[in-house]
Amino acid sequence: MDYYSSQISKLIEELSHLPGIGAKTAQRLAFHIINMPTEQVERLADTMTEARKNVRYCKQCFTLTDQELCPICTNSKRDAKTIMVVETARDLAAYEKTGKYHGVYHVLHGAISPMLGIGPGDIKLKELMERLRGDVEEVIIATNSSLEGETTAIYISKLIKPTGIKVSRIASGVPVGGDLEYIDEVTLLRALEGRIEI
Ligand code: ZN
Repeated sequence: MDYYSSQISKLIEELSHLPGIGAKTAQRLAFHIINMPTEQVERLADTMTEARKNVRYCKQCFTLTDQELCPICTNSKRDAKTIMVVETARDLAAYEKTGKYHGVYHVLHGAISPMLGIGPGDIKLKELMERLRGDVEEVIIATNSSLEGETTAIYISKLIKPTGIKVSRIASGVPVGGDLEYIDEVTLLRALEGRIEI
């Protein structure tokens, strides 16, 4: 049953396709939007369109950026010989928030999951191995402590071992299955500092 004008219903439907937005929230947001000043709505819509158009993967670490290389990869003060491997750009942001990590990153964009049919070829693993041909001293594996994250960590360490590059895994303390972005900075730092060579 269509209680609202079809345009409002359409807006509610579009919003409800976003992650974490249920029918109720979509409705609340839709009513909020139609009560916003027109200029503000235009700015929001433009920002979304522009971001979608211009944001891409960094050529080196595959995080999201609007340049060819992200600000971390181009920063000469960062230690390019230490690469932290994370699952998502959000995980990278969580480590950056601590302000205590000075190396660079590699974003896999997922984790190996035989259950979901996600294999090593479906994440940015080949790209990581290519980077390791350069001057790299340590790879810190900071994938989640979920089954998929652990599977990925073991897989990567086996790949890297023969190259002689040091491979370490962030220490436990990160809750099992917990997304890194929800973990407080102190826990994250402790996990990083307590990393163990694998
Ligand atoms: Zn980068």
